[in-house]
Amino acid sequence: MEILIINQAEVIDLLPMTECIEVMADALKRLAEGDVILPLRPVMWLPEKVGALGMMPGYIGSQSVMGLKVVSVFPGNHGTEYDSHMGAVMLFETQHGRPLAIVDASEITALRTAAVSAVATRLLARPEASDLCILGAGVQARSHLTAMLAVRPIKRVRVWSRNHAHATQFATDESARHTIHVEVSESAHAAIEGADLICTTTAAAEPIVHGDWITDGAHINAVGSSVPFTRELDTATVVKARLFVDRRESTLSEAGDFLFPQREGAISENHIRGEIGELLLGKVTGRGSSTEITLFKSLGLAVEDIAAAYHIYNRAVAEKRGTWVELGGNRHANTR
Ligand code: NDP
Repeated sequence: MEILIINQAEVIDLLPMTECIEVMADALKRLAEGDVILPLRPVMWLPEKVGALGMMPGYIGSQSVMGLKVVSVFPGNHGTEYDSHMGAVMLFETQHGRPLAIVDASEITALRTAAVSAVATRLLARPEASDLCILGAGVQARSHLTAMLAVRPIKRVRVWSRNHAHATQFATDESARHTIHVEVSESAHAAIEGADLICTTTAAAEPIVHGDWITDGAHINAVGSSVPFTRELDTATVVKARLFVDRRESTLSEAGDFLFPQREGAISENHIRGEIGELLLGKVTGRGSSTEITLFKSLGLAVEDIAAAYHIYNRAVAEKRGTWVELGGNRHANTR
């Protein structure tokens, strides 16, 4: 039995951002419809938390596909030749459990996370939102710029990062890649002031966003923290915002941005207005007014990785891309 290996360069070719946004909207709808099995992800931490191995399984019933993303997370890799997230998504069909493909997870993670933020932005940000602030200058910062340009009429972009040289490099590279000038801000405060759209994409452990910096009517995509013991947003930001999440169960277990204010007694579970999939199905109401601050707390879900990998797999088969490798699993056929 053969399995299709699809590498990072092929993922980039086979999943353009605009296509990925629609694949993510579809996956989150299926999640809200109850078509998905999605256990909470085990994370194995190395001593002193220098790195971790995340294991993210999931099943999409209507597509008869299941899979697992295995991803290492080494925040110290930023600025080296290695991505801070590396691994693979393994896909299986669900009639016999036959493995179908192994797809690079580094690129899927970069793309699908920003595409989900784009879905949330499309649903929650004011239609005319055009002043974008990006905090962080890594992989997610880059994919978020592409995603935000795809869904809102962006006229101004500011970036801030802890390491000023990284922010400057980001601004140079991204100004050249897109037909828009990216400005470097001296502080997170300066980047956020007056922004309509704020994407937080850092590995910060302590808040880098303060509630009194945020302009009325802004929309925030909070992406960088996916564990209970770090956060990018202070309590005031979360309290004053209308909060939407990718998934309630994951938020209550994994989201420091939610759990810190909850532990402080500032919010309770019902502060979560709904999931993005519920918004897509019209089951909950989104933005209530043009002055309200909306917040999407992103954690990242296996259903996003599996939906992205399955889409890439189908395109790869149709376009004869990837590399087929003999794996195994035909013992009976071979020995009879
Ligand atoms: P990169 O390693 O490419 O970039 C990390 C960024 O975080 C850099 O801009 C770095 O800034 C900044 N940073 C690191 N430590 C701190 C700190 N203590 N304070 C402020 N900034 C800091 O990572 P990615 O772009 O791939 O991921 C960014 C974050 O998003 C990570 O925390 C990651 O776990 C999370 N993530 C979330 C996903 C989701 O689905 N929600 C999916 C994938 C990633 P500088 O270099 O200037 O110091």
